[in-house]
Amino acid sequence: MSIVERVRPGVRAMTGYAPGEQPRGARRVIKLNTNENPYPPPQEALAAIAAAGPSLRRYPEPSARPVREAAARAYGVDPGQVVVGNGSDDLLTIILRTFIDPGDTVAAPDPTYSLYQPLTAIQGGRYVAVPWPEDGRLPVEALLAAKARVVFTARPNSPTGHAAPLDQVRALCQATSGAVVLDEAYADFCRDHGLPLLDECPNLIVIRTFSKAYSLAGLRIGLGFMAAELAAEMHKVRDSYNVDALAQAAAVAVLDHLDRFQPKLRAICRQRDAAAEALRQRGFATPDSEANFLLTTIPPGRRDGAAWHRDLRAHGVLVRHFAAPGLADKLRVSIGSPEEMKAFFAAVDNLLTDNSQPI
Ligand code: PMP
Repeated sequence: MSIVERVRPGVRAMTGYAPGEQPRGARRVIKLNTNENPYPPPQEALAAIAAAGPSLRRYPEPSARPVREAAARAYGVDPGQVVVGNGSDDLLTIILRTFIDPGDTVAAPDPTYSLYQPLTAIQGGRYVAVPWPEDGRLPVEALLAAKARVVFTARPNSPTGHAAPLDQVRALCQATSGAVVLDEAYADFCRDHGLPLLDECPNLIVIRTFSKAYSLAGLRIGLGFMAAELAAEMHKVRDSYNVDALAQAAAVAVLDHLDRFQPKLRAICRQRDAAAEALRQRGFATPDSEANFLLTTIPPGRRDGAAWHRDLRAHGVLVRHFAAPGLADKLRVSIGSPEEMKAFFAAVDNLLTDNSQPI
């Protein structure tokens, strides 16, 4: 018998998560495919990483206490309400390990972050995808009907960039006995956020990441905010040293200087709104976004979504294309620097006037 036949059937049956392409090497690409920040990492974080080097001989603080304390200062919560993750993806795993036994249900409005489903499968859970209504409101009734132990809702959502009304998140929390995970990976680009709901909703978990707003996707830092008694349960199931010492040092430096990021965040939002308008002018239907990316529908013509993705790539511009139903005629474009957006639009204009593609 092959060793692979000994692998858990659920693991053999599942399709692994497909991350956006991460090019390596000398070729310069305009990388607008994984919603990273176009600006360099903060100096404070780099200095803290350098200073932490000598302490690497030792294990890091197991529960990332310095980060939890800094997060508590920055966001006005108690350190006991914070769980730190090796990226917010790690927090998603920790949440599912905490709540989901084989056969339990996880639900989320769809389309959304495509990692929720494989993480549920790893846990042996059943994933229910509830379609987003046209108006972008949270499908509260249908989510409740799924009787899920965990409901994920990304706000702003990916890949759409829209933010469902917060009062619907509150209504969902009040109506379900399960956990509601408000994934706020993109909240720093949004007009409002859900942390104030924590006081009202003991079953709410709010998660944040340093990967988007704080230019530290490579470092892997995520924060989870929740009731202290729930955080205590989560600490039991996370890896024992899940956040390394360099990441902890950098995270504290970032949290102590959060206001430094505001001008860059505002610049990205301005750039986003201008790019949405520029896409519309070129015939791409593009709804407003509250995140650092746009979901744009390609105009009818010679190229389908996959071809746009391929041909932009040939021009050195990476964007994200999802082959999933409802998304095949769309591209998700992360907001880059002004120079990167210029290069993106130059490539788009080139392809719009290029008639070499057969109909
Ligand atoms: N949530 C959402 C909605 C995301 O788009 C991402 C980024 N892929 C994440 C969480 C994970 O971010 P990270 O693990 O880098 O913190």
